[in-house]
Amino acid sequence: MPDTVRCDVCGRLFSSRHLNSHKRLSHGGNTAGPIAENPKNDQDAMRRIVDLFGGLSKENKKNVLYRLTVPPATP
Ligand SMILES: [Zn+2]
Repeated sequence: MPDTVRCDVCGRLFSSRHLNSHKRLSHGGNTAGPIAENPKNDQDAMRRIVDLFGGLSKENKKNVLYRLTVPPATP
């Protein structure tokens, strides 16, 4: 029986023989997944946040910036 391994990009389970082809087909490579479940470190998380932020509309960018800079508890 082949080992079952978890895809570190989408978190689904695959047999170890199929994981590489799954990543190539579903995520376009080993590291290019647009949204991974678990950022490996702060650097990775920040890169992802910036990527996601860049895809937002102007209005939503303002919205996000506002939420990030104003603490929710502020009256
Ligand atoms: Zn995957």
